[in-house]
Amino acid sequence: MAPHKIVLRFTSTTSDQPIIYHLVKDYDLVVNIVKAQINPHLEGTMVLDLDGPRYEEGIRYLRDQGITVHPLTQEVVRIHDRCTACGACTVHCPAGALYLERPAMEVHFNGDKCVVCLQCLKVCPVRAMEVRI
Ligand code: SF4
Ligand code: SF4
Repeated sequence: MAPHKIVLRFTSTTSDQPIIYHLVKDYDLVVNIVKAQINPHLEGTMVLDLDGPRYEEGIRYLRDQGITVHPLTQEVVRIHDRCTACGACTVHCPAGALYLERPAMEVHFNGDKCVVCLQCLKVCPVRAMEVRI
């Protein structure tokens, strides 16, 4: 069976826990960190591949720690025709997936870095960022 791809969201009170250590040592899971980011307020997002027969127990452990866990079934895309390159999303993107290139002032989107936090959907004035399931 393919590994489970999941998104973990941390608050400032849950972001300093050694969860990878416990997933590997206590639940015998194989863990691959696909992407991770943490902001200055110590809130973060991590995308993981998780595999092993004790997967459900591992998920229960994460939730018991107060960490939000979702399957990664979503992908964020940019609708180029709508984007006005205003740059608003680049300030809010915690993963550097949306960034401004100077001096041309072009806005670029690197989907490989996106951690699906959905901040850009909230701030884009023309709804150029969308979720695909
Ligand atoms: S959802 Fe938007 S703001 Fe969040 S990481 Fe992806 S591109 Fe950046
Ligand atoms: S906020 Fe929307 S319109 Fe502005 S640069 Fe980002 S995607 Fe483009």
